[in-house]
Amino acid sequence: MSQSQYEELTRQLVQISLLGSCGSVLGWDEQTMMPPKGAEHRANQSSLLAGMVHERSTDSRLGELLNDLEQSGEYADERPESANVRDARRRFDRATKLPRKLVEEMSRVSTLAQHAWVEARKKSDFSHFQPWLEKTVALKREEAAAIGFADGGVPYDALLDEYEPGMSTAEVSAVFTPLREGLVELGAAIRNSGIEPDASIITRRYPIDAQRRFSRFAAEKIGFDFEAGRIDEAPHPFCSGFGPGDCRLTTRYDEHHFSGAFFGTLHEAGHGMYEQGLDNSYYGTAMGHSCSLGIHESQSRMWENFVGRGRAFWEHFYPSAQQEFPEALGETSADEFHRAVNDVRSSLIRVEADEVTYNLHIMIRFELEQALVTGDLSVTDVPAAWNQAYRDYLGIEPPTAADGCLQDIHWSGGMLGYFPTYALGNMYAAQLFNAARRDLGDLDAMFARGEFSPLKDWLNKNVHQRGMQYSAGRLVEIVTGEQLSHEPLLAHLKSRFEPLYGLA
Ligand code: ZN
Repeated sequence: MSQSQYEELTRQLVQISLLGSCGSVLGWDEQTMMPPKGAEHRANQSSLLAGMVHERSTDSRLGELLNDLEQSGEYADERPESANVRDARRRFDRATKLPRKLVEEMSRVSTLAQHAWVEARKKSDFSHFQPWLEKTVALKREEAAAIGFADGGVPYDALLDEYEPGMSTAEVSAVFTPLREGLVELGAAIRNSGIEPDASIITRRYPIDAQRRFSRFAAEKIGFDFEAGRIDEAPHPFCSGFGPGDCRLTTRYDEHHFSGAFFGTLHEAGHGMYEQGLDNSYYGTAMGHSCSLGIHESQSRMWENFVGRGRAFWEHFYPSAQQEFPEALGETSADEFHRAVNDVRSSLIRVEADEVTYNLHIMIRFELEQALVTGDLSVTDVPAAWNQAYRDYLGIEPPTAADGCLQDIHWSGGMLGYFPTYALGNMYAAQLFNAARRDLGDLDAMFARGEFSPLKDWLNKNVHQRGMQYSAGRLVEIVTGEQLSHEPLLAHLKSRFEPLYGLA
């Protein structure tokens, strides 16, 4: 009997995903193609679709099916079908536990808060955003209370669970603390090394047409399938997987900055290859869905940093880079260029940060968010607390709020609990990359020969095709044999940067 109920459940889930993916097409179009005057009509279209998705996601029939399937006792193990039922329950509970009034208020506040944030950032005036952040934090507290969290947990767990299912605040803190200590130490050693790469190499003139060709060439070479995806331009780079056979990437070009578009494209292509690697036969269910935002980020960061900023990668790509950019790179050696794309220095803006300091930007936000949710930090005090944290962790202080606590869009969109997934992604990436090397052998030698498919195929099999069969932590444990740990990431950073800065 439970077989037919399972089939009915998956049919409903597929329809919810199909509807949701229509919203993704509209969202992509809004960022890339839509003329400005279409904004209001688009908002109406998107809101109608979001309402339809919410209605279907909270349909009482889904609840009945889930109750029956759970009571059958046949879906309590780690089989794919059980993972699908378990995640459908998680989503159903999240959707039904939130009162409709709260959902609508959140959506209204986040639209207005984003407008206020854009204004506040332009004027670098925190007071303009402050009342909206207060409303947002109050709503997120209500949300956390409505959703609930495990015994012994904290309200922040409920927010984190939306992005990193199954991960607790305490587990994140347990790896962030030792990682922070190691990073602060490595950062200081690099600053005191007296070595500074010639970062001006990156800001020479790189004609945009050539950048477009070269980043596409690299994305294709590492394995992004352009028959099942596209790359277009948008003010904020992102990846949107619409569903089987259609994954959209965006990037932005700056004639006087090589790294932004190039590494941004590798990053988004890493996300895209995850979407393209999902098992389409499970479309609409958890097994056909990416595991968590942290695992998603592990894929983008692996291709961007572990592969793309490695010396072996440029062994292969540098001659073509010199051909594409003769004016900028004709007289520059591969070593000089490689050092320039691995320039480490404390900086104010998270999205421009290097591999070493990036995680410190994340930890600052993670700590402030928790303090906001518990009430230990009042919104009025955010700019001061932000600046203090930058002094403590990075040894610098933002001169303006625009370069400080107003730089990210997340809080205005109500996305509290999102930031930690970026640093978790870096840690997962280090662990998975080690496991790939254990299984495949000398990855650097392959990259130097331009062979990227062994790594891509390995990720397809070990990560992508497993969808949400396991939680992120469990997936990493199964693939690597180890629990989530800060150590592989620290080891990777040391092995890359100590030689570059004469520390080893
Ligand atoms: Zn990303």
